[in-house]
Amino acid sequence: MTRSTDVLIVGGGIAGLTTALAAARRGLAVTVIDATRPGAASREAAGMLAPSVEGLSLDAKSVAVRARDLYPEFLADLCDRTGIPVPLDRNGILQLAETRVHWEELASQAALTALCLDDRDLARLEPALAGHPGAVLHRFDGAVDNVTLMRALDVAVEREQRIDRLQDTVVRVAFPRGMATVTTAGASRFEAPRMILATGAWAASLSGLPTRLPVRPLRGQLLRLDGLPIRHVTYACGGYLVPRGETLLVGATSEAVGFANETTHEGGNALRSIATRAIAALSEAKVIEHWAGLRPVTPDELPILGPDPDVPQLVYACGFSRNGILLAPWAASELGDMLAGERTDGSLALFSCQRFSI
Ligand SMILES: Cc1cc2nc3c(=O)[nH]c(=O)nc-3n(C[C@H](O)[C@H](O)[C@H](O)COP(=O)(O)OP(=O)(O)OC[C@H]3O[C@@H](n4cnc5c(N)ncnc54)[C@H](O)[C@@H]3O)c2cc1C
Repeated sequence: MTRSTDVLIVGGGIAGLTTALAAARRGLAVTVIDATRPGAASREAAGMLAPSVEGLSLDAKSVAVRARDLYPEFLADLCDRTGIPVPLDRNGILQLAETRVHWEELASQAALTALCLDDRDLARLEPALAGHPGAVLHRFDGAVDNVTLMRALDVAVEREQRIDRLQDTVVRVAFPRGMATVTTAGASRFEAPRMILATGAWAASLSGLPTRLPVRPLRGQLLRLDGLPIRHVTYACGGYLVPRGETLLVGATSEAVGFANETTHEGGNALRSIATRAIAALSEAKVIEHWAGLRPVTPDELPILGPDPDVPQLVYACGFSRNGILLAPWAASELGDMLAGERTDGSLALFSCQRFSI
């Protein structure tokens, strides 16, 4: 038997769940099918909301700033629905200079909203970073606790009557006569006028897609160290430090090793070295956790969003690369409007798969 719905969503990471909620809120019946694959990125990420620090093109940066600024409202709504307050840090992100010349370079490129801190300002703000020549503070950036966020999304989806969620692996999709159909490993069949592809690093590997998507896995390892020597998310020494509760996350490696999701000694050592170069005392800090996740990366490190040009019943919400926690709630809201036939602001076009001429 084939079951029908308004919107089928393949993948239950941040992209799939936020899009499911956005579609359901606009009155659509949604089915989410998720395989819960090891290494899926949304629960493994560092949670930074860093549009000012990530090297984005001007157009993409303006969308990313909007995505960041949507977060307080998005989390307030999620808390109303679930009772789960998701920690949001909007203290700003520090970009640490390694040398005086580097500091001058960072200061000369800083946006008007950023604050340039010399060595004394920096030591006053973050005593543990004393000794570095300075930093730029990107005042409105920050981080979200993405693990709590994913837990809240799980609860919100479970409570939403218009959403059915299934634990299964989609093995094949097809697009006959203006419809989308999916078949799962558990031999279930579904059809809908729209299907959202939100399968993260696995986006290219689903059988039946009309094109081979340029999305590949890029492994990132993270450490969680005991103690909290700083209050600000800090980009430093080729990596970053992210306060999380009473601990410090240190990230991240970037390794093209396919779908291998293990941690390695080399990765752990590289992260320890980033931490220690930023704050010498971290050489002694206890490692509480060491894990890895798979970023779904495109050639320009921007997501693929919106309908396929030849098969419009297939809608992409994938390839979020290094900024999926930041961008997914914004993308979901735009896709929700599109699915419901409401006006969008046109920004989705920036992320069309046509830019790769695939
Ligand atoms: C180490 C690391 C640090 C990061 N730090 C940040 C950060 O600080 N800030 C930021 O914004 N982003 C960060 N990211 C990136 C961010 O995590 C991703 O861009 C985002 O989580 C992608 O979400 P997604 O829903 O597209 O994919 P995923 O979270 O990977 O979800 C995809 C889902 O699809 C399911 N799936 C796949 N194939 C099938 C199938 N055939 N059938 C059914 N289900 C299927 C998988 O099981 C999975 O649940 C980081 C990523 C990593 C790995």
